[in-house]
Amino acid sequence: MTEKDLPALSIADLQSLLRRREVSAREAIGALRERIEAVDGEIGAYLSLDIDAALKEADTANVDLPLGGVPLAIKDIINVMGQPCTCASKILRGYRAEYNATVVQRLRAAGAIPFGKTNLDEFAMGSSTENSAVKLTRNPWDLSRVPGGSSGGSAAAVAADAAFGALGSDTGGSIRQPAALSGVVGFKPTYGRVSRFGLVAFASSLDQIGPLTKTVRDSCLIMNAIAGHDPQDSTSLDEPVPDYVAKLGNDLRGVRLGVPKEYMIEGIDPQVKAAIDAAVKQMNSLGAEIVDVSLPHTDYAVAVYYILATAEASANLARFDGVRYGFRAENPRDMLDLYGHTREQGFGPEVKRRIILGTYVLSSGYYDAYYLRAQKVRELIRRDFAEAFEKVDALISPTSPVPAFKLGERTADPLQMYLADIFTIAANLAGICGISVPCGFTEVDGHRLPIGLQLLGKPLDEARILQIAHAYEQTTDWHKARPPIAATK
Ligand code: GLN
Repeated sequence: MTEKDLPALSIADLQSLLRRREVSAREAIGALRERIEAVDGEIGAYLSLDIDAALKEADTANVDLPLGGVPLAIKDIINVMGQPCTCASKILRGYRAEYNATVVQRLRAAGAIPFGKTNLDEFAMGSSTENSAVKLTRNPWDLSRVPGGSSGGSAAAVAADAAFGALGSDTGGSIRQPAALSGVVGFKPTYGRVSRFGLVAFASSLDQIGPLTKTVRDSCLIMNAIAGHDPQDSTSLDEPVPDYVAKLGNDLRGVRLGVPKEYMIEGIDPQVKAAIDAAVKQMNSLGAEIVDVSLPHTDYAVAVYYILATAEASANLARFDGVRYGFRAENPRDMLDLYGHTREQGFGPEVKRRIILGTYVLSSGYYDAYYLRAQKVRELIRRDFAEAFEKVDALISPTSPVPAFKLGERTADPLQMYLADIFTIAANLAGICGISVPCGFTEVDGHRLPIGLQLLGKPLDEARILQIAHAYEQTTDWHKARPPIAATK
């Protein structure tokens, strides 16, 4: 193994080299820096890097800790003390985090080294990372396509071997969907499982932080570090956390997997559908029993999400007024003028659209018709899942109906973009956990584009879907494939 090969390692493999003192944390970070320099000009995954500080941390890293000496990338919506936290928005330009998010504190306590912040759709609003006010991120499998979003920088960095692993956030699919489109593993924990303290809020009743990694085992390693109760997040659950790695196994005997009939809809790319069908067969051959289930309120999920998420966003984003953080409009006449111009100039078009939609659905004349009704339908969607989980241990579906689309292809039509979230959104509305794992490729214009398989699990049943995903992964080679850019640099 030469230093050049280090960035291709999984976290688990890097960790064992570090522990055996065959590689130092400094060497790992040095190799990663070279890799980032070689590929990130084209990919555009990172918004900021703090390699010098990371190298310093590396020299005192305790490599015997669970993530000792492992450098990790962090979506630029999670506060890492001293590093920029821009949410890819002009309104937070120049802002540096004054404290660590709980997840960052916990990663550090487990020995990990957060060294860089990754690109995203502005305030995590989007499905392609094209809403970043800073730059484009390209899909490592095909540079003319999106990496998915909103955690597109994290997904692209991991896919291009420019990160060993990363954190993302998932409000309606933003970890799972970019993981699927970029060919990596993305895991969204149960709402409340991982502390949101220090995550800049988009829609507080839906947001969750989780890992993007090369393997399911790596997701478990990160979950072991970040999961668990945090008194600083009032929605954090005070429940014991299992050792997710210890629960991994290769057998699916006795597992009941549900295929929701509403998810096998028209409009799914035929190659995506074929890959999911093959994966279901494969799981069946590993011992899983396949059961048809129904989630009757699925049709309402996208509409309900875009009412509730925008309503919450309109309230959460009220704090960006030019007084406290980041960007401030120049020469205001008075206070109101300062607020107005700062927000006018500081927010991008998608964020404004959401604030306006959210303000509308919360306004006195429409509150009952939209916001309140959406809350009721949200409860029906939650019950759909509760009923399905009486029959099965996990649900299986595509993560996204289509593979990575072309840059610019969907930006003109926000509704088309919203519909890309059809399979991921309901899990956030119901608060359950979900994972996307690579399950094949489509062949488009001579490029192979990754396909993601989604597994959804009961609240707090993370260990089970991680185990199922791992058992599946162990019998396939999809996760081992690297994008062309990884081979050429
Ligand atoms: N694509 C969805 C949206 O635009 C989900 C985003 C997310 O999960 N942060 O809101």
